[in-house]
Amino acid sequence: MGYGNFNIISFDEAINVLRYSKDQTIFTSDELAFIEYIFYYEPSYHGFYGERTTINLSSKINKNDIEKIPYTGHYVFKGKPKETYLKLKKDIGPTIYLTSGVRSVVKQMRLFLDKLKSVDMNLSMASRSIAPPAFTYHSVGDFDVGKKGLGADNFTERFAHTSEFTEMKSLKYIDMRYTIGNKDGVRYEPWHVKVI
Ligand SMILES: [Zn+2]
Repeated sequence: MGYGNFNIISFDEAINVLRYSKDQTIFTSDELAFIEYIFYYEPSYHGFYGERTTINLSSKINKNDIEKIPYTGHYVFKGKPKETYLKLKKDIGPTIYLTSGVRSVVKQMRLFLDKLKSVDMNLSMASRSIAPPAFTYHSVGDFDVGKKGLGADNFTERFAHTSEFTEMKSLKYIDMRYTIGNKDGVRYEPWHVKVI
């Protein structure tokens, strides 16, 4: 379905893609129950205090509400998020770019489950670096930026040592969601721009 589309695909669309795929892969009832659990459980019990941003597992991202940003494979919501991103690009220049924008439930589920697997299924540890699927602000307007050429290090504290970050911090209209010691219980994320 393409890397860009995977960012915005809904759960029902994903199920359909699987159903009509060559090997007609479908989830087992145990897998579906696990997916539902991960979406609907209450993560504050293990120290994640962010707000629930998506209510239903099958909620959809309206394609009229978003816009693809050329050469990034990512989308931003129209309105304040898009305006903020374009202004940021204009003020800082071509070395800053969108590393992750709009994320559907499916995309966030994938990121969260990959992280969960890498930390031996420790929910508390996983949620310090990736919000559980129903709790990401990427579903409602926030986005991540990085410095061109920094690659995966854009999602580490190395981004905080770039001149792009220094400039970004000086811009009055830019707010950081996950500051050092934030009350959500999420690690420091200098690359994550708070819009909503
Ligand atoms: Zn982010």
